Amino acid sequence: MRPPILNSLFSCIETLNGIGPKWSKLLKNLCGPTVLSVIFHLPDHILHRPYLADLKSAQDKMLLTTKVTVSQHKKPFSKRHPYRIICEASGSYLEVVFFNYHKDYIIEQLPIGETRLISGQVERYGEHWQMSHPDYIVRENEAWKIPIYEPIYPLTQGVSNKLMNRAAKEALKHLPNLPEWLDDTLLKREGWPSFKEALFQAHHPQNEIDISPLSKARQRLAYDELLANQLALALARTRMKKQTGISIKGNEALRKKLLSHLPFELTNAQKRVITEIETDMQTPYRMLRLLQGDVGSGKTIVGLVALLNAVEAGYQGALMAPTDILVRQHYSKISDLCSQLGVSIVLLTGREKEKKRQEILSQIADGEAQIIIGTHALFTENVIFKNLGLAVIDEQHRFGVEQRLALTQKGNAVDVLVMTATPIPRTLALTYYGDMDLSQIDEKPPTRKPIDTRVLSVKKMEAVIEKLQHALAEGKQAYWVCPLIEETEKSDLANATARFEKLNSVFPERVGLIHGKMQGDEKDAVMQKFLQKETSILVATTVIEVGVDVPNASIMIIEQAERFGLSQLHQLRGRIGRGAEKSTCLLLYDYPLSDTAKKRLNIMRSTENGFLIAEEDLKLRGAGEVLGTRQSGLETFLLTNFDLQNELLPIVRREAVQIIQSDPCLTSPRGEKLKTLLYLFNKDKEIQTIKAG
Ligand code: ADP
Ligand code: MG
Repeated sequence: MRPPILNSLFSCIETLNGIGPKWSKLLKNLCGPTVLSVIFHLPDHILHRPYLADLKSAQDKMLLTTKVTVSQHKKPFSKRHPYRIICEASGSYLEVVFFNYHKDYIIEQLPIGETRLISGQVERYGEHWQMSHPDYIVRENEAWKIPIYEPIYPLTQGVSNKLMNRAAKEALKHLPNLPEWLDDTLLKREGWPSFKEALFQAHHPQNEIDISPLSKARQRLAYDELLANQLALALARTRMKKQTGISIKGNEALRKKLLSHLPFELTNAQKRVITEIETDMQTPYRMLRLLQGDVGSGKTIVGLVALLNAVEAGYQGALMAPTDILVRQHYSKISDLCSQLGVSIVLLTGREKEKKRQEILSQIADGEAQIIIGTHALFTENVIFKNLGLAVIDEQHRFGVEQRLALTQKGNAVDVLVMTATPIPRTLALTYYGDMDLSQIDEKPPTRKPIDTRVLSVKKMEAVIEKLQHALAEGKQAYWVCPLIEETEKSDLANATARFEKLNSVFPERVGLIHGKMQGDEKDAVMQKFLQKETSILVATTVIEVGVDVPNASIMIIEQAERFGLSQLHQLRGRIGRGAEKSTCLLLYDYPLSDTAKKRLNIMRSTENGFLIAEEDLKLRGAGEVLGTRQSGLETFLLTNFDLQNELLPIVRREAVQIIQSDPCLTSPRGEKLKTLLYLFNKDKEIQTIKAG
């Protein structure tokens, strides 16, 4: 149960004074549903509006506050012209101008002969000054209503900074004094304010330093957020590790056979991670391991060796992938490889129906099926395994700790190996996968050739198509990825269809089209045709992003590449360079390209190192983009800036591990306070794991 002291923070935005239903709705879209989410929505810069008694010291376009006496109203001839008010400002002329206006409002705000304080941006017109639409007009005795420093919030459609400001002020009134959960020594050493004080300071910056992630208030808040995250991961990890697992030790018979059939040698990195995995599987604790390796680094074989290890020891192994295409691809490869080994493999996705499905389910239940390949439905549905020993989860950069916890409720403490092809910068790996052990394949198979990446204006499209003609004549194959349009899936599709038609008119019968709206078997058919070289160009939306493997395809063309995240471009590019051919990747951009966009595309051109690319993506676009969290509902960090507050994480992590080691159920006095912290950051599920024991 959440401590009652937090209740008012978790009440909905409507409870804020003076924020009606209409505003609440807009604020909810911007910040989230609760009072606390408003409090956690921090300003990201400030405006300074100094008070100038004398406009002689003002500069053009300056934002300022000054005192004026209203001399004259110049009513326009028609509504189309602006309403002008001549004011005297300590010897200077200041004209206040309104374009769209309510006459009554203006007359009431600036009556002739009266003195007012006004604040806004001034512009110089020869001898006099002009201010259009002042931000503030107040009486002299209300000077306090004009902030000298105004926090500016990240905003969305419909929410003005004033509204956000007001909501934040109201929300902060709900913030109680909370017990201090941070260590006293740390607080003293860093000179950090209390949680409540830090939030007040964050919303009331007095200068540029206050707004920076390096200010004491912001550092403290980031520390709190990261501490909640790391404690939650440590709790989840303890919970998962505590369950005694199965000790799995194969006899290597199947593995040896498999390796002798492969046309290549494993790389040293592959061998190393296999040893890490089998050592871990052999311990009597549950394995919870993340296998990171760049696209094409050869994770599938590693996963298969782990599965065979389980089979050798008499257990079943399951391999799960996020999409039907990937599942089928894995199935066809792995069943090819296993056909000589005498291992029985079944496929289970949403598409196996009725009788067939029943048959597969019973094979899984009676143990006849040794390796089971399927979508995540394998774990969410009521699939009963005879004796599952290992679950391998492929391409899972969109798999949160909650899902991992759910997974562990299943089965008899099965070992879990998560394979991800999205290189994740270390910081993020720790915050998102900090509950897992890490194995890394940091070397590519020697057979992989460097990819020639070029950045071209879309104006060169005709030349590209012409080049493509030569390439196809030589038997090459190409992917053509259509622009990503954020508004709707529909427009993505419209784009892809238009491009398909254009290319199809140049290369009749040689072009395939694949997109997310297609039925599974339609997709399969298109992929099959491409794989069999019946088609030479595959026009696609981003459905091909993850894992697809067609070794003969050596050309990748990406339209409006500037719209994609770097990690996503890296994934897409990883589809080529898999075969004997030298591969080319063309990044087409829409003219004109902004400086940042240019910089980003140049990074793609200069390196194929996924980790470098991910680091850059993190700097340029933030954590959500690197991990694709926005689409996935993975944890988002509101108070932490991973670029500038990077150095906090190792400290937090060390502390969290120590805390959970010495007080695994958080029952000490400090532990109780830390529970409040966990509830503040929505770690209710992880707290429940304490009780579940
Ligand atoms: P990913 O890590 O992206 O999942 P895959 O496992 O799909 O990569 O492997 C990519 C390609 O490299 C596959 O065709 C695979 O057969 C091949 N491969 C894997 N390991 C090696 C190796 N050690 N030497 C040569 N080719 C390899
Ligand atoms: Mg793979």
